[in-house]
Amino acid sequence: MASIFTKIVNHEIPSYKIYEDDKTYAFLDINPETKGHTLVVPKVEVDKIYDLSDEDWNALWATVKKVSKHMEEVTGRRIVYKVVGTDVAHAHVHLMPLDENWEYGKTLHLREDEFQSICEKLAFQD
Ligand code: 5GP
Repeated sequence: MASIFTKIVNHEIPSYKIYEDDKTYAFLDINPETKGHTLVVPKVEVDKIYDLSDEDWNALWATVKKVSKHMEEVTGRRIVYKVVGTDVAHAHVHLMPLDENWEYGKTLHLREDEFQSICEKLAFQD
């Protein structure tokens, strides 16, 4: 069965899209720890990040860098990462604009209009 992230990439499940290219997809985490918390995923469905091909690994980290630079420019904040992968078996990297109130693992409860407005600020294309 397709992973939840494959369904998001294929638009079978809605997401707040931040960026997309031919190999990767970035979208807001639905349980954000800071405003702008974004997940970058490879379009290919691979569980463990270290099992990606070199090509997909490089594409993933190139997108992480690109999205980080853009997020830093827009938010004025340092962008921090985490790679966990215990909840969804589809490789992904978490990107978070650092916030002084950030507590690791603690979810912020945002309204739909807040997600929408963050998405509008952060979304970009090549
Ligand atoms: P991890 O596997 O790294 O522990 O966490 C997976 C992340 O995926 C979690 O932060 C969780 O909130 C996020 N997530 C799980 N399901 C969905 C979903 O359907 N949509 C979005 N946007 N994020 C999700």
